[in-house]
Amino acid sequence: MSIPVSKNDIVTTDIIGLTHDGEGVGRVDGFTLFIQGALPGERVLAKVLKVKKQYGYAKLLEMITTSPDRVAAPCEIYKQCGGCQLQHMDYAAQLRWKRQHVIDNLERIGKLKVTGGKSDGAGEVLAEGRSADGLSGSEAGPGVIVHDTLGMDEPWRYRNKAQVPIGMAMAALDGGADGGYVDGTPAEGSRLVGGFYARGSHRIIDMDACLIQHERNDEAVRIVKRIGSELGVTAYDEESGGGLLRHVVVRIGFVSDETMVVLVTNGKKIPQVERWVEGIRAALPNVKSIVQNINMKKTNVIFGDETKVLWGNEVIYDELDGIRFAISARSFYQVNPAQTVALYRKAVEYAGLTGKETVIDAYCGIGTISLFLARQAGQVYGVEIVPEAIEDAKRNAVLNGIDNASFEAGLAEVVIPRWREEGIVPDVIVVDPPRKGCDQALLDTILKMRPERVVYVSCNPSTLARDLRVLEDGGYRTVEVQPVDMFPHTVHVESVALLVWNGTEG
Ligand code: SAH
Repeated sequence: MSIPVSKNDIVTTDIIGLTHDGEGVGRVDGFTLFIQGALPGERVLAKVLKVKKQYGYAKLLEMITTSPDRVAAPCEIYKQCGGCQLQHMDYAAQLRWKRQHVIDNLERIGKLKVTGGKSDGAGEVLAEGRSADGLSGSEAGPGVIVHDTLGMDEPWRYRNKAQVPIGMAMAALDGGADGGYVDGTPAEGSRLVGGFYARGSHRIIDMDACLIQHERNDEAVRIVKRIGSELGVTAYDEESGGGLLRHVVVRIGFVSDETMVVLVTNGKKIPQVERWVEGIRAALPNVKSIVQNINMKKTNVIFGDETKVLWGNEVIYDELDGIRFAISARSFYQVNPAQTVALYRKAVEYAGLTGKETVIDAYCGIGTISLFLARQAGQVYGVEIVPEAIEDAKRNAVLNGIDNASFEAGLAEVVIPRWREEGIVPDVIVVDPPRKGCDQALLDTILKMRPERVVYVSCNPSTLARDLRVLEDGGYRTVEVQPVDMFPHTVHVESVALLVWNGTEG
């Protein structure tokens, strides 16, 4: 097929869906164009930016018709920042789109039949331009129930953690980081800036406030930047590998009010470190922990392996649903505490516990889900790869007087097969893997251990769907899926799925 558009063409197109990145999908003579900022149902004027074999990208110039789901994005830097992707969409429409996104993945990748999952036109459209093939609905037998996305009443200022990349700028100039460098070294009179990478780039743009971040985290980042600048601290420069401060990470306990500040540095020594610590403590009375993490590698990964306490505790404490958690700098802890409680309660409900069950919590982090489960189970076994997180998990069990949960550091796909050999027989296995989903070896082990129920908590609908297919082929049936909106205004979708043993294989 010849490509019907060229770069710089001005085209008119109807938007027929949203990609998983939140871009509008248009078609010109059958050719797919991705248009940032356009919404399904809109007719738009766009300028072609880039043309590839199968699809292209275009810039939204003007809306000819406007979707009823369109709202004015409240954040001033929304267009430049890559952090949020859906602020121009009404929140209720975001929730509908997230549910549909889950359904599309379950149908296309998981080959699952979804009950009542009819596309409302806001569904995701694939790059090749295929749309949902409508496996949904009442065709035959009961399918998977996908519930309405559980949203927030107040979907702003929900994050408990800020991770801010740091650069330099001339004191006189605002914005771009590069301005503060001369030949790779910070120029005189330059200051620290930090905020976000401009959409699709590694250029750091300074930011004072983020509408999805807790106000006190914004404040803490501002203070750390200001004091660092006053002390002449240099920022890490990706190009040259020089400079000191790479990231500032701040975490606040929503219940406890405790704050942790992490300075991620490209080097062990921080000049005038006492003055910096004193300044932070004076300006942030709730700070309970100031730590340094050393990362001297050329990498996008934020944290390095070495963490040392500069002042205060090694951890901060927070509470979820009456359970207290110690959280250290490198440990995973869900960023939206209000929705986390909803998610974990749903996971516990799906586990169907009566007080006697043996439960495995794979990818357990600091033992959050494990301890929720332990309140209603016989015995819980948690496994997690980050050793500090397992230390936290053990400490958290003791902290809450929970003695029926034990934890082990290691790969889930290695430790759980060994537990099987040791004779541990779970009634329920809960998994909560990172974006890439479960390791095949773990899925194989689940199929061998054959627990009555599997509860799958997922931050990525496509790997969820892939893994559900493996479990379905091994004899499990996916009963229901609950999408939970952990990340309002972004394209991220969390879900929890319940699978039961079907009694038959394949
Ligand atoms: N259930 C926890 C953590 C979920 S995030 C919570 O809700 O807080 C996923 C966790 O899996 C992270 O803590 C990560 O360190 C861990 N992880 C990643 N790959 C792993 C693997 N192969 N085996 C065990 N843990 C792993």
